[in-house]
Amino acid sequence: MDISVVIPLYNEEESLTELHDWIVRVLHKNGYSYEIIFIDDGSNDKSWEVIQKLHQSNPNVHAARFQRNYGKSAGLNVGFEMSKGNVVITMDADLQDSPEEIPELYKMIHEEGYDLVSGWKKIRHDNTFTKNLPSKLYNSVNRMISGIQLHDMNCGLKSYKSDVIKNIEVYGEMHRYIPVIAKWSGYSKIGEKVVQHQARKYGVSKFGLSRFIYGPLDLLTIMFMSKFGKRPMHFFGVIGSIISFTGLMLLVWLSVDKILFNTTGIANRPAFYLGILMVIVGVQLFIAGFLGELISRNSPERNVYRISEEL
Ligand code: UDP
Ligand code: MG
Repeated sequence: MDISVVIPLYNEEESLTELHDWIVRVLHKNGYSYEIIFIDDGSNDKSWEVIQKLHQSNPNVHAARFQRNYGKSAGLNVGFEMSKGNVVITMDADLQDSPEEIPELYKMIHEEGYDLVSGWKKIRHDNTFTKNLPSKLYNSVNRMISGIQLHDMNCGLKSYKSDVIKNIEVYGEMHRYIPVIAKWSGYSKIGEKVVQHQARKYGVSKFGLSRFIYGPLDLLTIMFMSKFGKRPMHFFGVIGSIISFTGLMLLVWLSVDKILFNTTGIANRPAFYLGILMVIVGVQLFIAGFLGELISRNSPERNVYRISEEL
């Protein structure tokens, strides 16, 4: 099978049939063998009924339905597990992403050998102040921290070599950072394609302002996990050692000063409290490092690596 189109959705009843017909039209025109996988993320409108109808009329439509709303990442993850195509294309269900982009996204993976191609909504039809400007800022911070040169990391329209999605796990709110996750799993050929973007035709946006709080935290988690997840002591141990050593030196200096130069009491000098604090905090960090090591040593995934070729 050439293409799996994975579509996570939450309360998008009005868009689904139109989206399905459009995708099928584009794929037929290009003669691809395909499947369309809808993941109903616990919708409480008629989305599931619509999907059932689509499935009855088109055997290439598959779907899964969550018992409740688990979020876009969980939806994508299930869709990835279900997919059988050589190239997997994800898109939003709200008709903001255009199916006309699919052939080109497919070719970039299949012919040009990209592992992952991310859409770039260069001209964006969303609210300027709540979406467009924050997203620009956000993406430039992401580029700096992750070193991945994408303008629109969180674009819902992306294509993947099937190998990539079978080897990564998307959870929590991590759908925003799939390129980062992919890169850290060893898939470094990441491309970008400018894509058409439409204003939302039906329904409302499902992501509010909370994404500004959780988004950056998730990026920190990913960076930390990919760098130190398997060796927490290298992070906590180094910082802990530096802090407690500095604190210890402060205390030594205070003691020497008192003994040699007979200065008045140590206990009323600010450096004394700073020294004690630093020793305690440093030791705490050290212990956090040890606990981290214990946990990762006992994790069933302590030794995950992927062999890309073998003779
Ligand atoms: N979505 C989902 N689960 C959620 C929230 C959103 O599957 O909990 C889907 C939603 O139905 C849409 C896509 O994720 O297909 C992108 O959401 P939305 O269009 O609301 O985001 P925006 O375009 O406003 O960033
Ligand atoms: Mg949208």
